Amino acid sequence: MLHRSPYARSRYKQTPVDEFELIRRYFDRQRATPGVITGIGDDGAILSVPGTGLELVQVVDTLVEDVHFPAATSAADIAYRAVAVNLSDIAAMGARPRWMTLALTMPSGDEHWLVEFAKGLFKAADAHEVALVGGDTTRGASIVVTVNMTGEVAAGRALLRSGASAGDTIFVTGTIGDAAAGLALLQSGGNDDFLCGRFLRPSARVDTGARLVGRASAAIDLSDGLLGDLRKLLDASGVGGEIDVASVPLSNAMKSRFEQEERTRFALFGGDDYELCFTAADERISDLDDASPIGRVTGESGLVCRLDGDIVDYDDSGYRHFR
Ligand code: ADP
Ligand code: MG
Repeated sequence: MLHRSPYARSRYKQTPVDEFELIRRYFDRQRATPGVITGIGDDGAILSVPGTGLELVQVVDTLVEDVHFPAATSAADIAYRAVAVNLSDIAAMGARPRWMTLALTMPSGDEHWLVEFAKGLFKAADAHEVALVGGDTTRGASIVVTVNMTGEVAAGRALLRSGASAGDTIFVTGTIGDAAAGLALLQSGGNDDFLCGRFLRPSARVDTGARLVGRASAAIDLSDGLLGDLRKLLDASGVGGEIDVASVPLSNAMKSRFEQEERTRFALFGGDDYELCFTAADERISDLDDASPIGRVTGESGLVCRLDGDIVDYDDSGYRHFR
């Protein structure tokens, strides 16, 4: 997650290889390993537990001070977010979150800070009955929080990035771009309770993820930005897609605070929303009221954006290049 936020993106511009190339080159050995149903490359790993009818889903995410959250972020918000981003990866697999461990690095053991941190941590975890079962505590120059979470899912039923097929509809849950807008406001000294709250306290779509099992053909959670994450899903499925930019759902707060160009940039490229993006044959999700159709899976490769029917290229400053 080197690219996780606009924050991270600017800091890591000089990285010699990008995150995914780095993982592919040094860590992904592409070997079949006993017990591993899905390894590197999805939102979580799927591990078999023979004889139980269940599989485990394993995820981990790290938040680094001044990279993934501004240093002024409250202890409770840091902890809440560290749990929520992991819940979101579990949700993207359609699994039920069960247990977590916590590795916490901090410069000092300030008691007030720890009381608040624990409050935020358990608020997020208790909402989904996730138990803290271990961890590690170390001293270090800045705050680094790693949560490792395990979920469970009926064997063979997990949602993957790789199941989309041509003709499926592309959906997103909730509204998109709010967290990036909220972070931009936090960084510029502005405020908007709703938008900043969407960055600081993302609500992972755990229930929706579980309801998508057997109905969505593929799913991913939106951590790095809609276009980038949707491309990962399409690539993993070996298909292409088309989205109608005007149908990407935006919040009223976003519409009232930001002009067209800027809100499009937040919606297409901003990260940290922790909504789900999934594909499904239309009729199978008609009862999900928190999901909006934004486009269609195609047999071509690559992702095409359309605005008023025209094909439009966006770069990540939000600039539109018409073809
Ligand atoms: P997410 O945003 O859901 O965390 P990504 O799209 O960033 O996932 O995917 C990267 C994939 O590579 C995931 O399957 C992740 O588990 C894996 N991954 C990331 N870093 C490493 C690493 N250092 N070693 C092994 N696998 C990694
Ligand atoms: Mg993910």
